[in-house]
Amino acid sequence: MTTADGFGTQKIERPYSLGTDRADLYSGTGVVAPLKDLLAPSGDGDLISSNVTSPNIEETIFSEEESLQTISPLSTPPMVTCDDFALAFDIDGVLMRGGQAIPEAVDAMKYINGANPYGLKIPYIFLTNGGGKTEQERCEDLSRQLDVEICPGQFICGHTPMREMAAKYNTVLVVGGEGEQCRIVAQKYGFKDIITPGDIIKTRQDTTPFRKLTDEEYKNSKMLDLSKTHIEAIFVFADSRDWAGDQQIILDVLMSQGGHLNLRSETHDEGPPIYFSHNDVVWSTSHDYSRIGMGALRASLEALYKAVSGKDLNSIAFGKPQVGTFQFATRLLQKWRSESHGIDKPPSTVYFFGDTPESDIRGTNEYNEIAENDWFSVLVKTGVYKDGTTPRFEPRQICDNIFDAVKFAVERQQENALKNSAVEDLTKVDPSQVRN
Ligand SMILES: [Mg+2]
Repeated sequence: MTTADGFGTQKIERPYSLGTDRADLYSGTGVVAPLKDLLAPSGDGDLISSNVTSPNIEETIFSEEESLQTISPLSTPPMVTCDDFALAFDIDGVLMRGGQAIPEAVDAMKYINGANPYGLKIPYIFLTNGGGKTEQERCEDLSRQLDVEICPGQFICGHTPMREMAAKYNTVLVVGGEGEQCRIVAQKYGFKDIITPGDIIKTRQDTTPFRKLTDEEYKNSKMLDLSKTHIEAIFVFADSRDWAGDQQIILDVLMSQGGHLNLRSETHDEGPPIYFSHNDVVWSTSHDYSRIGMGALRASLEALYKAVSGKDLNSIAFGKPQVGTFQFATRLLQKWRSESHGIDKPPSTVYFFGDTPESDIRGTNEYNEIAENDWFSVLVKTGVYKDGTTPRFEPRQICDNIFDAVKFAVERQQENALKNSAVEDLTKVDPSQVRN
């Protein structure tokens, strides 16, 4: 996919002083969920003790008597540390479902914040495609629901990268979300002139013949001078609450002459670019079956545009599985580890916990192929993915829930620490003492 505005690799100002090329954020392919996902109904492992006995490496090299006289016990304590790994969480279907915390999520948060056999406080971030509120508000909600303090500095949602577009566009159409929430988010991102579908309906009610604004919506919406309104870009910040009305208005803008609402393009392809904060076709809620999301709106809009104009719509999606989103996350994690944990080196391994193979697992696996460290994908069974089905994108580990998943990660790190410790000790052995 190419950039619609042609400023592909330009460096831009970043939230949290993070570095990401725009081209990274705009690249990548869309996600298509299998139809069966729309139709499908949406044990603690034994922990390795903190005083675990090291593998008796000596026995493989020396007799018992010789080993006692030489290098036993191992000189390096084989303990996992929090310097070497980090965690990244999807939220819906992993920690939350239908606005409620998944029961195991609270225990998982306690576990990674020190309530584990090693007393580790492990650095972690959240990387969700969801949105519709400011990062600050989302963190306050999550902190309350998960009973742990979460800061905006460890949080990326679908529309977070959109703040970088505020300097590029003056007048923008912002779509989706509850009430005025997304207008407020866009204002906080620095967008100057924000128009919502409500503003357009208030100004000209026959824009959407079957959609009437509520009194509250009418009061919050603003009257426009359509002869002077020039929309430079369309941003779908969060899920639409009114597909029919929003699609009609988006289509009007896409088919306008350069975003001038009262001018229709004869070729139907002179409209402004359209950006989606993510491309998840389905997502996990409290319903038994997965619900359609923003990716479904995108697919629907592309089909509509094709049917009406006869042309293909080039739209742009942020969020997982785009590689740029994971690069963004890498920099966020680095900054968070440094500021909150005093760790200045990058982690060797980042465990990513998600419930959607098409975004979480695909994104993690594809990013792992180019990342300097190991991004390890873990799929949980509490969301979009259903036990017994074959995920379209294969994770490196599947766990029942997020508590099991974080314990798996810590246990794996401990096992790796043991192996590395053993190897280090072997390298210290005097070769002359080794029996051939
Ligand atoms: Mg999810």
